[in-house]
Amino acid sequence: VFRDIVGADYVTDNPPADHPFLTDERHLFRGRAAAIVFPKSAKELGECVRVCNDAGIAMVPQGGNTGYCGGATPDQSGRQILFSLQRLNRVIAVDRPGATITLEAGVILSSAQDIASQHNLLLPLSMGSEGSCQIGGNLSTNAGGLAVLRYGTAKEMVAGLEVVLPDGRIWSDLKGLRKDNTGYDLKQLFLGAEGTLGIITAAVLRLHPLPNTTITAWLSVADIDNAVSMLSELRENLGDCLTSFEYISRESLNLVCEHIDGARDPLQTAEGNVVLVELAAYDNGELLRERLENELERTMRNGTINDCAIAQNDTHRRSFWRLRESIPEAEKRAGGAIKHDVSVEIASLGSFIRETRQALREEFPDCRISLFGHVGDGNVHLNVLAGSDVTAAVFKRDCAEAISSRVHKLACDRHGSFSAEHGIGQLKRDLLADTADPISMELMRKIKQTLDPKGLMNPGKVV
Ligand SMILES: Cc1cc2nc3c(=O)[nH]c(=O)nc-3n(C[C@H](O)[C@H](O)[C@H](O)COP(=O)(O)OP(=O)(O)OC[C@H]3O[C@@H](n4cnc5c(N)ncnc54)[C@H](O)[C@@H]3O)c2cc1C
Repeated sequence: VFRDIVGADYVTDNPPADHPFLTDERHLFRGRAAAIVFPKSAKELGECVRVCNDAGIAMVPQGGNTGYCGGATPDQSGRQILFSLQRLNRVIAVDRPGATITLEAGVILSSAQDIASQHNLLLPLSMGSEGSCQIGGNLSTNAGGLAVLRYGTAKEMVAGLEVVLPDGRIWSDLKGLRKDNTGYDLKQLFLGAEGTLGIITAAVLRLHPLPNTTITAWLSVADIDNAVSMLSELRENLGDCLTSFEYISRESLNLVCEHIDGARDPLQTAEGNVVLVELAAYDNGELLRERLENELERTMRNGTINDCAIAQNDTHRRSFWRLRESIPEAEKRAGGAIKHDVSVEIASLGSFIRETRQALREEFPDCRISLFGHVGDGNVHLNVLAGSDVTAAVFKRDCAEAISSRVHKLACDRHGSFSAEHGIGQLKRDLLADTADPISMELMRKIKQTLDPKGLMNPGKVV
């Protein structure tokens, strides 16, 4: 039946167990599927979904398959249908006066950024996976990334949405209006729902003016408290020109220098941690650079930072960002890490990190802690790697549960989140059920039941 709808070339029956779509980015989950289907339009996808709904067959939507929680991996039954969105890849329109882009869900994030910039506009969603993740996946995970501080998460960029509902109907709200208070804002339901309430097929995203200058600086700081002080100083004195504020611990930087060809610390310091800062100027870039330089001189004198380097050109800037963005790959090459994506109030980041480090050091004295991330959003990735006394595989097998429950408990004790930006998927589904407020869980289950009464849309994920 699917062949009749999408064409024989766009259905892969009984894909082999080692098919790349059947395992997740981190290789934590491996699934099977009765078929992988590649629809070309919302209409084709809607017809396929209707077939599944009528026959009681479960479905899994997949974008770029870069998610960290196994949300796009089918279960082991071999009965589910995997819908790949990769052929829904048209940019439908760019509206310059309205500053929006309307595009299909399978457009790769970096392509969407490029198209926006060709129209002198900025799509500020940006992350290490942008060369392969898709807009539909970004919206379904409410992705964060590198410029949340200034522009918000993916959710905040959405002005309109089109979704294939679990019964195959197409719900379309692609008007993209800035102001529209006609009842409940239904699109919010699908943003961050990880494909459990429907399949996003298109969206209208808000764009921003393209900055005329971007200034990037690499700062050496003694510890996380200095980083947080620097954040306050820059925000107070430079306002919302600050677009990124990323922390890189010495351990993360060492991993990158050990495992990534050509990587080296721009400041060549043997110790200390790093903050990568980026500012965007919409008018006078030279003035902003001067203000930043004054700020850096002042904070160096008062001891908030120890040293700094400002990128002199785009190649230089890219080399700073490459160090930051290579951390996940460096961790992978080091054997893989037990990863955490936690957020707490920025003011308590310092005490949270100190307490967590101490707790882990006491119990696992040999482990390596790679700590980095979006400190400007109160969100850090606290990843734990094996020490030299044990192989990475054995360490992850034996210690992952104890380490993760320790880290998550310490974050939750501070009213923080155990999933700041990566979502729930199948990895953290039980954790959500165990820790969420019962009323929140009840409301989420009722929404799921209302939209997907047969429970066929990405079952086993989130709720
Ligand atoms: C190197 C690297 C760096 C990363 N950095 C960041 C970061 O800074 N910030 C961040 O937030 N994340 C980051 N991620 C995680 C990941 O890239 C994001 O979660 C991304 O948004 C996932 O998009 P995707 O297209 O790959 O989705 P997938 O992995 O394919 O799917 C993710 C979830 O969304 C669902 N889904 C996918 N497409 C649709 C659709 N069209 N409709 C409905 N549901 C759908 C899937 O079923 C699944 O539940 C990073 C990952 C890597 C590998």
